[in-house]
Amino acid sequence: LQQFPYRRVLVLGLAKSGTAAADLLLDSGIPVRINDWKATKEDPAVRSLEERGAELILGSHPSSALDGIDLVVKNPGIPYENPMVEAAMEKDIPIITEIELAGMLHEGPVVAITGSNGKTTTTTLIDAMLDASECRSRIAGNIGEVAVEVARETTHDDTLVVELSSFQLLGIESFRPNISVLLNIFEAHLDYHKTLENYQEAKARIFMNQSEGDFLVYNADDPVIERFIGNANGTLVPFSVTRKVEGAYVEGGTVYFNDEPILERSEIVLVGDHNLENILAAIAASKLAGASTEGIRNILTTFTGVPHRLQFVSKFNDRLFYNDSKATNILATSKALRAFEQPVILLAGGLDRGNGFDELIPYLDHVKALVVFGETAEKIKDAGRKAGIDTIEKVDNVEQAALMSYKLSEAGDVILLSPACASWDQYKTFEDRGHMFVQAVHKLK
Ligand code: ADP
Repeated sequence: LQQFPYRRVLVLGLAKSGTAAADLLLDSGIPVRINDWKATKEDPAVRSLEERGAELILGSHPSSALDGIDLVVKNPGIPYENPMVEAAMEKDIPIITEIELAGMLHEGPVVAITGSNGKTTTTTLIDAMLDASECRSRIAGNIGEVAVEVARETTHDDTLVVELSSFQLLGIESFRPNISVLLNIFEAHLDYHKTLENYQEAKARIFMNQSEGDFLVYNADDPVIERFIGNANGTLVPFSVTRKVEGAYVEGGTVYFNDEPILERSEIVLVGDHNLENILAAIAASKLAGASTEGIRNILTTFTGVPHRLQFVSKFNDRLFYNDSKATNILATSKALRAFEQPVILLAGGLDRGNGFDELIPYLDHVKALVVFGETAEKIKDAGRKAGIDTIEKVDNVEQAALMSYKLSEAGDVILLSPACASWDQYKTFEDRGHMFVQAVHKLK
């Protein structure tokens, strides 16, 4: 860290990102105090930070932790109502997240992606498109490695591609992406941000430090975004799935960037209208960052999706298998169902949160069979009956569901795991559930 203007930093909340931030500050010779109520000295990582000179305040948040501090690096997960954060705000001590430090460190171009949905998919695509174009790029942020850690290894030839949540964006001061991507803004996460306006403001921070020469790639079909990008200083680059715009768009089945045809929509492996939005955003951002049309084409004609997000698993005996284990609510499952026109066998069920599944009914018309499991099996069965599905089978778990669905299937069918429920009644994570399904599918062969 060069020209770092702060004299003593409080790292609030360790976990992965706090540990990485403390590490960097110590290596840069900056005095660090750590405050975390959960961490203990039993943890060797914590002990090692102390051995290297960090001052530890563990187990509570005493107000004295702020004495002599002129910067707080907050873990993005800690809310602004935390007493220590409130006390820092009262004292006008700047509060940043680790991403701000990454921005100070990294010398090359930055592409930053935010939105309510589609961040991981879009970020993954941009990174892959750059790699396939022989542009050096590194992915960081919400996905995979902590941004500060990655930024310590990059040079000015590397493009840093970062996925940012609104929690991270609240903690930036000078972070300035050369290319910002705004995907969509839904009324999600309102419990943390209290109001939709706060949530929008957090998202708008992704372009607040941009100036001439920078780009803001945004969803021209999202009315909320259209309303608040008026004060952006970078060049606006829209994308749209509904009309021709001066950016990325689809017309007559062909995908364009500016007026250059990139590829046919039918050549794209990823399914779903929502993914088409992510794809257009990724094409625009990666093109602006130097990707080639050939590189972009290579990715879009082979990329099967981020694991567990409407991921194409395999084609076996003319059946197409998809793993959408990340779909833990009705909205996500309805989107997955809309991605297919051919007959679908839907595998659903999981943790019971007390809701019914009637909202799923309008999306079930091309579902020829339903295989249910988990705590919500009976409830989803009810919705399936109301939708007029004749074949409904109840099984014990995802493996059995995979087997059963294959038994019920014919050539040309889509077999879709999109549970509409969280996994915790039977599986540790949605990833575990998805892996079980993928393994079961491979065993069928
Ligand atoms: P995030 O990283 O923002 O959570 P992901 O790329 O992991 O987003 O996708 C998570 C889920 O969000 C997908 O399974 C899909 O149901 C939904 N989704 C993805 N992209 C979009 C989009 N552009 N618009 C609406 N929903 C989307």
